[in-house]
Amino acid sequence: MIEELIRPEIRSFIPYNANQQPYRIKLDANESPFNLPAAARQKLAEYVLKDPKLNLYPDTDSVELRKALSEHWTVDYKNIIVGTGSDQLIQVIANVFVGPGDKVLYPAPSFGMYGDSCIIAGGTPVKYILEPGQRFEYCKETIFEAYDREKPKLVYICNPNNPTGNIMPAADVLQVVRYCKNAVVVVDEAYAEFCDTTVIPHTLEFENLIVLRTFSKAYGLAGIRCGYSIAGPALTAAVNLARAPYNISRLSQYTAQLVLEEKDEIRKNVQYLVDQRKRLSGELEQIRGIQVFQSHSNFILVKADRCKEVYKKLCEKGIFIRIFGASPLLENCLRISVGTEQQNTILLDELKSICYND
Ligand SMILES: *Cc1c(COP(=O)(O)O)cnc(C)c1O
Repeated sequence: MIEELIRPEIRSFIPYNANQQPYRIKLDANESPFNLPAAARQKLAEYVLKDPKLNLYPDTDSVELRKALSEHWTVDYKNIIVGTGSDQLIQVIANVFVGPGDKVLYPAPSFGMYGDSCIIAGGTPVKYILEPGQRFEYCKETIFEAYDREKPKLVYICNPNNPTGNIMPAADVLQVVRYCKNAVVVVDEAYAEFCDTTVIPHTLEFENLIVLRTFSKAYGLAGIRCGYSIAGPALTAAVNLARAPYNISRLSQYTAQLVLEEKDEIRKNVQYLVDQRKRLSGELEQIRGIQVFQSHSNFILVKADRCKEVYKKLCEKGIFIRIFGASPLLENCLRISVGTEQQNTILLDELKSICYND
């Protein structure tokens, strides 16, 4: 009986299945290997011991955190919205703008939430294809054509793109924003710290531009579920219409503020991961049967002969990376998050032994 009550378009959904098995090295979710910096950890412990007020609802508007973010970006805090991860903001944006008959244009292969959030809101997802043969590069003209043809309400650009690692230059992103003037253009910059490409300074120039950021990747705070959007006043007010009250816990608001005070350490961690990405890419390229896509992020997409076997054998060794089941564009592809030097060395050694010895 329940089955028939579910909206038809949702019935075939498969709940998100993160691998929660015990592991030795976890390189499957683009998390940071760096935990909360020690100084921030100390302050968090003091906060909890003193009077964390966990019996009271948190600030529903996350004002202190938004003010800290506004200093970080030199934008008005009123133009920032904080979400329970940028995931939540993706869903909120769909809920505000998309209903039956409305289209959402987004890249493929890319992040699954763009299509899912559209379907959940009752809209029609439309993909624009990034060609594996063209190293998954974005093509402005492809987006323009799809925009003219489909007249979507939302257009997504994931920059750098997950899981392919490529970027669209900021000037091109802005051309898309200009061209798609009757749509909201959502630029998901979840990994932008790893490439220094951003369109945040342009959010006041274009009323249809919204940028998404997260604390889950470069800031190493996937565990607190905190992301945010930056956009002009009209778009920000619109997105706020469907945001859940009290959506960020006290502990998350406070922890995110603390990590913003640790700019030097975060910068150092990002540089470390960028250096390791270069090293890992270089060494992966040397392995027979592995093709490496250039990445501007904290993960690397590879195409591997005997992909499933490689994946399975790494799993057996307790090394988790990401495999892409259904997507034809990602046939034989694996995504490896960049870890610490030691983790990457172990991964490389195991990979070599799989690719050469058996
Ligand atoms: C990880 C990721 C996010 C953010 O996730 P949250 O943890 O919900 O902030 C957003 N977009 C992409 C493309 C991602 O890979």
